[in-house]
Amino acid sequence: MEKTKIDWCDSTWNPVTGCLHGCEYCYARGIANRFSGGGDKWSDDNLFVLDEKFYTEESERACPYPYGFKPTFHRYRLDEYADKKGRNTFVCSMADLFGSWVPEEWIMKVFEFCKKAPQHNYLFLTKNPGRYIELENDRKLPWADNFWFGTSVTRLSDKYTWFTEKKFHWFLSVEPMLEGLGEMIPDSAKPEWVIVGAETGNRKDKVVPEREWIESLVSECRKFNIPIFMKSSLEEIWGEPLIQEFPEQLRKDKS
Ligand code: SF4
Repeated sequence: MEKTKIDWCDSTWNPVTGCLHGCEYCYARGIANRFSGGGDKWSDDNLFVLDEKFYTEESERACPYPYGFKPTFHRYRLDEYADKKGRNTFVCSMADLFGSWVPEEWIMKVFEFCKKAPQHNYLFLTKNPGRYIELENDRKLPWADNFWFGTSVTRLSDKYTWFTEKKFHWFLSVEPMLEGLGEMIPDSAKPEWVIVGAETGNRKDKVVPEREWIESLVSECRKFNIPIFMKSSLEEIWGEPLIQEFPEQLRKDKS
């Protein structure tokens, strides 16, 4: 579990890393490739498992992503947070844990270890919320007050099946905001939280959101009484103090 610069959570925890979505603006891919051991180049495999027997803290420090951005299960990280003080923890900031390629066994293991450390709030985020629905249909998605399931949206053409099961906590992450989203909050069920941010880095085709796109999202949230959290990447565009609200339950560690 690592302290993080991501301002809407306290820590990140990455028992699974790597992703095959191929988003052009991905920051995680750059980091993983920079600290890669080249393992992805000498194997055509698309999934890797790093076992505690073969991977030590020392080797992790030397090479945290031996297979670059290929999906990798760092099994040795599963219990690293068990005795830590309760935090809002973003699970798999360096992956999409719910990508269609991720073996269900990996997801179940992550859930199992989350349940062993109930002092934390676990924030999941995916671009494939259909996987939440599949898991829920099989009664495998944990229903607990400290599990928060997020969906990542960047543009209107992201055609998602919304995950709107009311018994689960769910939130939206609009990051990076690549266009104005209009009235995009589904009528069927409202998210309990919205996060919004701009693309960072220096990509050639980097998109800088317009202030009115953000205003429109804020007014959607106000209409439905949904807390909204603006990431610091919006500071210049917004030009006034950022609105950084949390749902009541996630606020407990923020005071
Ligand atoms: S879903 Fe996230 S981790 Fe995967 S490629 Fe896109 S930005 Fe990167």
